[in-house]
Amino acid sequence: MNRFLLDAALDAWSVLLPVACAGCGADDRGLCDGCRRSLEPLPRVLLLADGTAVTSALRYEGTVRRAILGFKEQGRTDVASALARPLAIAISAAVDGRVELVTAPSRRASFRRRGYDPVAVLVRKTGFGATARVLAAPVVASQQKSLGRQDRELNLAGSMRATTRLNGRRFVIVDDVLTTGATITEAARALREAGAEVVAAATLADTPKRFGDSRTGPK
Ligand SMILES: [Zn+2]
Repeated sequence: MNRFLLDAALDAWSVLLPVACAGCGADDRGLCDGCRRSLEPLPRVLLLADGTAVTSALRYEGTVRRAILGFKEQGRTDVASALARPLAIAISAAVDGRVELVTAPSRRASFRRRGYDPVAVLVRKTGFGATARVLAAPVVASQQKSLGRQDRELNLAGSMRATTRLNGRRFVIVDDVLTTGATITEAARALREAGAEVVAAATLADTPKRFGDSRTGPK
């Protein structure tokens, strides 16, 4: 399905299905006003061990967490626009000069299960244009299926590769949730190895438990 048809299908979906608020379950479509307010971005910059600065719009807890999980795991595509807005703020803060946006490639299994790539859908809705498809999906060994999310992330090292040489090209890496930072670190490594400059990264939300004691303050 091309992306215009996909967008149209996703929009039609939200019109046709009356649903409960994705944040609190109240009788509402998409997000109720209260939950919408808790998606008001509070960008902050976090520094990964490899030196990549990540601007993150929201803290991954409470309403934010439920809305993102609803979007990613329960087909709540009707909250995409509400999530795209804070992501756009994070991307704006991360962009410096002429850059291309790139997302970490979805594992094939998760793409098949959802039928769409949640981060790519959000980026399209930010108005920043399409992401560059220059990274190949990580190959995940079958024994990794039993690992938790964090362990899987830590096992990402060395798994991604660029599909072409990227000399002279500059990138901002975009992802949904910053947990261990392993996904962005691995994408940055693959981009740099192909000759690209990694300017910064932008995420919709970060896990405050992990990054709550960060030395870097809000930008
Ligand atoms: Zn609500």
